[in-house]
Amino acid sequence: MVLPIDNNKRNTVAAANNSNIQAITTGNYTGDKVEYSGITHYKYSDCKASDLVTINGIRVHKDCAEAFKRMQADAQKEGVNLRIVSGFRSTEYQKTVFPKKFKNKKNPTEHEFVSRLKFSAPPGFSEHHTGYAIDINSLEQTFEGTKAYKWLQQHAKDYDFEISFPRNNKQGLGFEPWHWRYVGTEEAKKTYKK
Ligand SMILES: [Zn+2]
Repeated sequence: MVLPIDNNKRNTVAAANNSNIQAITTGNYTGDKVEYSGITHYKYSDCKASDLVTINGIRVHKDCAEAFKRMQADAQKEGVNLRIVSGFRSTEYQKTVFPKKFKNKKNPTEHEFVSRLKFSAPPGFSEHHTGYAIDINSLEQTFEGTKAYKWLQQHAKDYDFEISFPRNNKQGLGFEPWHWRYVGTEEAKKTYKK
């Protein structure tokens, strides 16, 4: 479903009056994608608990974990350190994360909402829900300049990882050099085929 944007009223309607923004922010929005101001987030289901394993205290899908461990070991041989800094996040957890930076938590202004949408997914719409998405080493743009990022650009595909949000991605999201997703099984591929 495409959310309506009334351009005439943009920036003038208080977000408190926009039930869509509130519903999305609180996790009560039931559409299969969130499309707003040129940004798209797709709906994802939470990974089954029985498919999750833990690496360094971080939960990820077992297939993703397997592939990551192989990739990590091979990178290490070339003097490149890779570690997962974020993996599985539940929809419930995202309900606490997404509103965090809004002044009026569950009632963001449209401006706050759109800025947040560029780098953070609303509850129910994060690739991290699937257990197949991982953040590697850092959550800073400067990660792009590291040896680890260059190594990933060259080799991650050999382990069935791909960058989710490269520059100028079709979803209109900000560039996230640290965020990679596993697509090495039919199930994982299906998850991200949008
Ligand atoms: Zn991420």
